Amino acid sequence: MSLAMEPRSGGRHEFADRVTPARVVSGVLHEIGRVLAEAAFPAKCIGCQRRGTALREGCREELPYLPSGVCRWCASMRVPRGVCRGCRRLSPALSGVRAAFAYDGAARAAVLTLKFKSGRYLAPLMGEFLRAELSRRPLQADVVVPVPLATKRLRERGFNQALLLAEEIATAVRGAVVGNALQRHERPAQQTLRAADRLVNLEGAFSCAAANEVCGRRVLLVDDVVTTGATFSACADALAEAGARRISAIAFARDL
Ligand SMILES: [Zn+2]
Ligand SMILES: [Zn+2]
Repeated sequence: MSLAMEPRSGGRHEFADRVTPARVVSGVLHEIGRVLAEAAFPAKCIGCQRRGTALREGCREELPYLPSGVCRWCASMRVPRGVCRGCRRLSPALSGVRAAFAYDGAARAAVLTLKFKSGRYLAPLMGEFLRAELSRRPLQADVVVPVPLATKRLRERGFNQALLLAEEIATAVRGAVVGNALQRHERPAQQTLRAADRLVNLEGAFSCAAANEVCGRRVLLVDDVVTTGATFSACADALAEAGARRISAIAFARDL
């Protein structure tokens, strides 16, 4: 395609809004790219699984918001008469854990889908709900740190879904994402262990690889799902050891 019709220098501003062939081509290429991306990774509603959009309006109303009365400190839904057993297990370095949803229904579907490359289109939608939760009870952080995957898992998956979510919320808390602040060392999979064993299993499982970036700073940890809080807790210990000033955590969904 010839660029002969592009305005010459001098006339550039005057003609800036004129539709030139080059602009048309670039627009068409952009549109083709979008269509190809959608064909390769078609959006599917996390509620009803119908294709076309990541979340249909009707399904938005069915989302499993956390019930009122969850623990204010750890977001646990098991709070019999104000006494939370979950909190006592967590690191004192962790100032709080929040989540947007219960790990159920459409929220669970979103978490599971985001673990696949083909599900990455869900990150902006999940980010929207995390930002909404953060605006409900505003929080500021200097540094936003995703819970890391173990190296082997990261190699298999090709990306860390927690990093995608961290990138979505960084501006909402006025922080900067430090993707490699934590390193995760190999341990047996948490899912195979009971709650009490999870904390023991994770002792020393994380180390801070960027102490200079977290020292004296407020840190927000981000993960897709929180179960017992043991992972956030172990991450908080590693960050506190590196000198982080205040450590809080947010997950897209809360299990238990
Ligand atoms: Zn739906
Ligand atoms: Zn609690």
